[in-house]
Amino acid sequence: MSFDSLGLSAPILAAVAEQGYETPSPIQAQAIPAVIEGRDVMAAAQTGTGKTAGFTLPLLELLSKGERAPSNQVRALVLTPTRELAAQVAESVATYGKNLNLNSTVVFGGVKINPQMMKLRRGADILVATPGRLMDLYNQRAVRFDKLEVLILDEADRMLDMGFIRDIKKIIALLPKKRQNLMFSATFSDDIRQLAKGLVNDPVEISVTPRNAAATSVEQLVCPVDKNQKPALLANLIWEGKWEQVLVFSRTKHGANKLTKYLENNGIKAAAIHGNKSQGARTKALADFKAGSVRALVATDIAARGLDIEQLPHVVNFDLPNVSEDYVHRIGRTGRAGATGEAVSLVSSEEFKLLQDIERLIKKILPRKIVEGFEPVHKLPESRLSQKPARGNRPKSPRIGHRDGQRSGENSRGHRHGGR
Ligand code: AMP
Repeated sequence: MSFDSLGLSAPILAAVAEQGYETPSPIQAQAIPAVIEGRDVMAAAQTGTGKTAGFTLPLLELLSKGERAPSNQVRALVLTPTRELAAQVAESVATYGKNLNLNSTVVFGGVKINPQMMKLRRGADILVATPGRLMDLYNQRAVRFDKLEVLILDEADRMLDMGFIRDIKKIIALLPKKRQNLMFSATFSDDIRQLAKGLVNDPVEISVTPRNAAATSVEQLVCPVDKNQKPALLANLIWEGKWEQVLVFSRTKHGANKLTKYLENNGIKAAAIHGNKSQGARTKALADFKAGSVRALVATDIAARGLDIEQLPHVVNFDLPNVSEDYVHRIGRTGRAGATGEAVSLVSSEEFKLLQDIERLIKKILPRKIVEGFEPVHKLPESRLSQKPARGNRPKSPRIGHRDGQRSGENSRGHRHGGR
């Protein structure tokens, strides 16, 4: 199949061709005609499936037909959980829409609000936004939704995990009742279905697995190690393996900072990326990592979510995630597009229960390798796959702490620091 048969017009097809895409990915083949037809869409798809082009291309097609957005009005609103994802979606909109005369803008927290207010004065045919900052802008009368035609929720599951449900409901209540709705989510939990029920109308349902279908192309390995030896073991793996580019997951922001310093002190160029970093610092860290001048990018789960970093050969879980599902997301960052990758988890005896939860979730006992010189004093017990179903260890209420895309400065409960 080619892009020509999907109902996209020549300027958009030219922009797609310029990207070098030859065939639409499965989600694009299904979503593009449905969106152009005006249907609501509910899609189970994560990063790596081509979902962004899946909604951006038909959106551009639809919007290129009607009248441009008047001052402070928005015709299509894309909500994303994180600043990085918002920036990436906006970049895709600009890339695919380069031959069209449409106005697009992106807004998120952590940067000055005034320039965003100025840009919105021109009106936005497509506005990409994180929920917290969008509410701030609405409350300051910088954005209005009378002309809104299409709402897109990207990574809806993550938005719920991050506690954005109230903001999302408030925003939806402000929109015209008659509109088109597209909802993308990596998982379809009961909460997501509940949200979808009040949102989409007779949707086309699409479900695809990412091109980087993790488990098949990713070699997974557990290195049992004492907690205090982890930084040294990581530096050793990077040096001995001659790793040029590694994404390291840390459970906490503080841990990410500490580890980054340790690696730097040991001659490994490193940068941390998490919610307490300024937007400028985060953008720079990602750009340096992509360009190869930073060798180790140390990230928290929320900051890493949705980052489009292609074909990472190495991912390291410096800490195991508290939420087992995050393990699957993390290792999905390696071995993309058919290339093989390696996901190494440094696991101390304190983390045994987390390891078991993960192994139950993926229904597999992970192979272990003790690295010479790093033999743990506190032994990691043997894993066993019991018959018991994996325990849902997702916390019931959102964590208290700063969330990406939230109103700048503090969180709604007045705390300044969170765990992630
Ligand atoms: P996404 O799932 O939207 O985050 O996209 C993942 C990556 O796939 C991005 O780097 C896109 O540039 C790329 N991509 C999207 N659609 C295609 C396509 N049809 N052919 C090749 N690459 C694509």
